[in-house]
Amino acid sequence: MPGDRIGGAPDSVVILGAGHAGSQLAVALRDKGFTGGITLVNGEAEAPYQRPPLSKAYMANGQGDALWFLKPESYVAKDIRLVAGPAISVDRADRSVTLADGTSVGYGHLVFATGTRNRPLPGPWADRGVRTLKTLRDATALRAMLDQTRSLAIIGGGFIGLELAAYANRRGIDVDIVERGPRLMARAVSEPISEHFLAQHRAAGIRVHLDTGVASLDRVGRLTRLTLDGDSHVEADLVIAAIGVTAETSLAQAAGLAVEDGILVDEQLRTEDPAISAIGDCARFPSAHADAPLRLESVQNANDHARLVAGRLTGTPATYDALPWFWSDQGADKLQIAGLPGAADRRVRRGTAESGRFTVFSFRDGRLFAAESVNMPADHMVARRLIASGGIVDADALATPENALKTFLQHRQDA
Ligand SMILES: Cc1cc2nc3c(=O)[nH]c(=O)nc-3n(C[C@H](O)[C@H](O)[C@H](O)COP(=O)(O)OP(=O)(O)OC[C@H]3O[C@@H](n4cnc5c(N)ncnc54)[C@H](O)[C@@H]3O)c2cc1C
Repeated sequence: MPGDRIGGAPDSVVILGAGHAGSQLAVALRDKGFTGGITLVNGEAEAPYQRPPLSKAYMANGQGDALWFLKPESYVAKDIRLVAGPAISVDRADRSVTLADGTSVGYGHLVFATGTRNRPLPGPWADRGVRTLKTLRDATALRAMLDQTRSLAIIGGGFIGLELAAYANRRGIDVDIVERGPRLMARAVSEPISEHFLAQHRAAGIRVHLDTGVASLDRVGRLTRLTLDGDSHVEADLVIAAIGVTAETSLAQAAGLAVEDGILVDEQLRTEDPAISAIGDCARFPSAHADAPLRLESVQNANDHARLVAGRLTGTPATYDALPWFWSDQGADKLQIAGLPGAADRRVRRGTAESGRFTVFSFRDGRLFAAESVNMPADHMVARRLIASGGIVDADALATPENALKTFLQHRQDA
């Protein structure tokens, strides 16, 4: 009932956001034997669902139910109170959260798992029919539009833009990608991987415009005309902006918590308020894998954060040091990344781009710190273990295909 107060026992946990991090936390708490109340505040109208398939399998099959984390009855069975949000304010002195319908929910511990919001295109362009993809609702709308689309322009050459481009291309839609930077996926992958995917997308017939911004956007009849830097034009039935995200921190900031494109947390994912944690895409945390506090946008990070906080709240605190890993499916290529491929002093390749199956291994100060595998899932799995155990491995030996990868793990154990 609006205005009612629920929960509030000292051992109760309230989770804001029922995406990957929030849903995983609720389940992990029960799996670890937590007996207090768990309230999971859902910011969306749909039952909590997985996001990565929205730009991949869901585009092709449209099966929304297949994305659910749990069947609706399982929340009841696990005694997880799933409530409709969003939360609109947090009162730290009162240890309570107010939901959009006026309900007040008391907490013993509060966890922000509010994810990110898409970065919008500048002001006037937002209302010129440009679409974005974040939610199941967005994806459902885009699927329907793509049925009517002959030409698609995507602004942004990151993972989501490229996954959508590859899907549309396979459906026979004419695709342009406009990327302001000098290479694709520059924030997340090394140069050789950018080059490979650029070649793949171009070979498939996608026009990729690098180093090119959008100067203006106009409706021309039923088409949208993008005027690009340098005064060339692209016209398309449908325009999608996939230009990155910012952390959803508005509520945390309003509650007085420290925020810097991410809610600032320590190595155990605690905010400066001992009764509040933050996990997943919305959290900025110290990491052994980076020089400065990090905010990651990945399912691995959301799940591992959730498990760490569930451990802390059930009596087994730990420091977060999980190795980051990611994946992206683009056309026939599966890219898997272990570690964070930043500046390297040496990169070696195992396999060839021509074969469509290879891994780029990145070294710094003689240590392996990242591996990017294209259609090489076994390399990816071995690389994760090698990096996590310190990355002491010989680069030349790794680049020699005759050396079976699993022998490197063996050497590591013998060392
Ligand atoms: C199309 C797409 C494809 C992706 N593909 C991949 C991939 O291949 N691999 C990969 O690793 N990652 C991928 N990602 C990223 C991945 O989905 C995110 O890293 C992951 O969802 C993060 O989980 P999260 O719980 O932190 O945030 P989210 O899953 O975004 O969930 C946050 C939730 O919090 C809710 N919320 C916000 N504010 C409030 C509030 N005030 N009250 C209540 N609820 C609130 C939001 O509505 C949202 O439901 C993809 C993302 C998208 C959008």
